[in-house]
Amino acid sequence: MNSMFCEKCGQETEHKEIIKQKPSKYGKSKKEQFKAFLDGFFGGVASPVGASLDLIDRYEVCTRCGHKTLKNQGDEFQ
Ligand SMILES: [Zn+2]
Repeated sequence: MNSMFCEKCGQETEHKEIIKQKPSKYGKSKKEQFKAFLDGFFGGVASPVGASLDLIDRYEVCTRCGHKTLKNQGDEFQ
């Protein structure tokens, strides 16, 4: 866990990182999901979780109040 400043608590608190998959532009079927995966895989940076970086949102969540901070880093690679 990381110590980060929480806007809501107004002080440094412990944060944990969570990753959420963005609603995909592809369909929900297995075939479409696979297509999305391949697109992400060959189209750019593959992340450790196996999804394209532009398909996931990273949040830092304050373990004290539950405040979520969006922490996408994908843009830095473009
Ligand atoms: Zn907080």
